[in-house]
Amino acid sequence: MQTEKVVIIGSGPAGLAAALYTGRAGLKPVVLSGLELGGQISLTYDVDNYIGFPEGTSGPDLIELMTQHVNKFDANIVFDEVTEVNFRTGPPFTVKTSGNEYAAEAVVVATGASPRRLKVPGEERLIGHGISFCATCDGFFFKDKDVLVIGGGDSALEESIFLTRFAKRIRVIHRRDELRAGEQLKKAAFAHEKIEFIWDSVVEEILGEEKVRGARIKNVKTGEESSLEAEGIFIFIGHYPNSKLFTDQLEMTEEGYLITDEKMMTSVQGVFAAGEIQDRLYRQIATSVGQGSGAGIMAERWLRERGAV
Ligand code: NAP
Repeated sequence: MQTEKVVIIGSGPAGLAAALYTGRAGLKPVVLSGLELGGQISLTYDVDNYIGFPEGTSGPDLIELMTQHVNKFDANIVFDEVTEVNFRTGPPFTVKTSGNEYAAEAVVVATGASPRRLKVPGEERLIGHGISFCATCDGFFFKDKDVLVIGGGDSALEESIFLTRFAKRIRVIHRRDELRAGEQLKKAAFAHEKIEFIWDSVVEEILGEEKVRGARIKNVKTGEESSLEAEGIFIFIGHYPNSKLFTDQLEMTEEGYLITDEKMMTSVQGVFAAGEIQDRLYRQIATSVGQGSGAGIMAERWLRERGAV
């Protein structure tokens, strides 16, 4: 088996930025893309806050440009999902996919985060049958339908606004009476005639046997319960880091975020991490790109200091 200089796990903005920097340094990085090239932003319709795009852009367009840029510098993007790693011994470290095994002098972990679930009765059964975590992917199926959106952050409002293209009515259910989302999105959501808010309420159960019929909700201030009819439910209540692969190998916080130092190095020398796998605070495309660039620079420097390049 050939030993790669750098293997990057994940192909979102952090992974691709690390690939750009290690590629430009001549290290021929291997990027193991995961199931979705581009990660979460490839499912994002509007990107309005990535600097340098004053007219805004879309997630897929941005990922396409990032991929083109990375390919110019000899990165090898492989569409494969990592199933196992061994960081206990090495370097070289071992990274396995279902059909392949890689040895790497240095690794950058950029596996990002996935949408959090409500963990209420009915949810597991109805995912894909009216429950969705992506309005861009599934909004079209809810033309002229009544839908519920759960959450009060930027994602909930951004995706609600996107859903106005299709749905007849969007009711946003938030557990408090104040939104977490930023001012611009709040203004746009409050102004939209199709969007309504249900405050101080949590979902107790998702109703429906084979497809979503609605939700049973509870007002947390009054304790009053009620049922709402809806054909679709979109859940945007934050994310959890995709760090299961690294359990007992890399130090992580209680919530599962990898712990890195100021050089983006994890608890294992030679294994770096960038983006939402280690960042619970900013979680922006721009900050993931910054962290990925940092990890790429530091991986190259670390390899050079050890005489590995
Ligand atoms: P978030 O900011 O963590 O918001 C999650 C929302 O879900 C909060 O309103 C939270 O309520 C609610 N929530 C959490 N757990 C819940 C539960 N079990 N039941 C009911 N509600 C629950 O997540 P996000 O909206 O996905 O955003 C993640 C990051 O991406 C943020 O940094 C955000 O700024 C960024 N982002 C930015 C944009 C943009 O700038 N255009 C778009 C999307 C995302 P509380 O408010 O009560 O905690």
